[in-house]
Amino acid sequence: MGIEKLLIANRGEIALRIHRACHEMGIKTVAVHSTADADAMHVRLADEAICIGPPAAKDSYLNVAAIISAAEISGADAIHPGYGFLSENAKFAEIVEAHGLAFVGPKPEHIRTMGDKIEAKRTAGALGLPLVPGSDGAVSDVEEARAIAEAAGYPVIIKAASGGGGRGMKVCTSPDQLETLMQQAGSEAKAAFGDATVYIEKYLGNPRHIEIQVFGDGKGNAIHLGERDCSLQRRHQKVLEEAPSPVLSQAERERIGGVCARAMADMGYRGAGTIEFLWENGEFYFIEMNTRLQVEHPVTEMITGLDLVREQIRVAEGKPLSVQQDDVRFTGHAIECRINAEDPRTFAPSPGTVTSYHVPGGMHVRVDSGLYQGYKVPPYYDSMIGKLIVYGRTREGAIMRLKRALQEYVIEGMKTTIPLHQALLNDPDFLNGDYTIKWLEDWLARQDQA
Ligand code: ADP
Repeated sequence: MGIEKLLIANRGEIALRIHRACHEMGIKTVAVHSTADADAMHVRLADEAICIGPPAAKDSYLNVAAIISAAEISGADAIHPGYGFLSENAKFAEIVEAHGLAFVGPKPEHIRTMGDKIEAKRTAGALGLPLVPGSDGAVSDVEEARAIAEAAGYPVIIKAASGGGGRGMKVCTSPDQLETLMQQAGSEAKAAFGDATVYIEKYLGNPRHIEIQVFGDGKGNAIHLGERDCSLQRRHQKVLEEAPSPVLSQAERERIGGVCARAMADMGYRGAGTIEFLWENGEFYFIEMNTRLQVEHPVTEMITGLDLVREQIRVAEGKPLSVQQDDVRFTGHAIECRINAEDPRTFAPSPGTVTSYHVPGGMHVRVDSGLYQGYKVPPYYDSMIGKLIVYGRTREGAIMRLKRALQEYVIEGMKTTIPLHQALLNDPDFLNGDYTIKWLEDWLARQDQA
């Protein structure tokens, strides 16, 4: 089925990103927006725009009935959910398909399986992905928990089956804390996610976060597009991402990528997905799979030359992937900085009106952002206001270009995390690629003391 008109069920830079891919494919776009986003760039650029509710996301961007009505009224034949909001909601995907619309995303059953972390881990294990040692599934009995923790070795981490966003996790360093921490983790999970189910994993002391981009056609063919290193995190939120990872060799990339691609082929996975691993001492440990496009997908686009949204749309149309594994070439190095409307030291949100705006340009510089001069950043949504992505033939070249581009980037009227990125790019550990998921928080603590 050829898609002619696509509704973008999202906002901000990702709505714009999807719009751009559509227009390059000759597909018309329908933007949906809350009343707070009437002046947003994604609304201005789309062929049609429909207001779906008041500012609160639960009444607009998460309002399934309003979004489906907008698709019907506008005569859209497909919906792209972007990331966040409804993108990993299996019920939404089912409703979209039940209305005869193409869902630009995975099959609903795969969204559901990977959304339950215990089910995801079980599936990943059955498909041959390497797992973090730990419980086989849910653990409720303290004696059982003790035996599992003993076998895995302390410290262990107690995680919520329905968890997300880095919440509901407890690190346990000795057997005498286990019972208390299990109870705490369970009640926090119940409060946050409505589900008290927890499981146990070995706690890795100082890993990197390395994720593999996969793509399937839904008919048993799948490829991998290499890795992204997303170890620079604050409170489990990614800050800067790069590809390739400074620590992987081509042989290691091909090995883990091959394992992931085969797993997706066996599942009959459809569309884009990301398999997230912790990596320590040369070993990969599966933690979760995201069944959607990721914020950091542009670094993969930069080093492969592929347009991932275009591939997603092609697959949703029932077409094959435009490349096979042997056609995928990795060249050069790409880095992405997430730019947030936040104080670069305290991270307090700083929404406001853009009084002056200048975007960097030049060779191999990409800015994905909905900002423009006079735009008022609404306080209701995520604080990420843009992404700056650069490409270089080498990592050093990419870093030099990124420094240059950050210097050119002017956003006045609010505080942004641009100064944080500038400081990071001068740090010797970063320059050496020598960092783990713990590194940024330690670095920030040192800055606070200085
Ligand atoms: P969420 O879905 O809440 O993001 P994840 O399972 O993806 O949860 O884990 C989020 C982060 O928590 C990881 O990126 C890592 O920093 C930390 N983490 C999770 N599991 C472990 C583990 N077994 N050992 C060490 N750190 C972990």
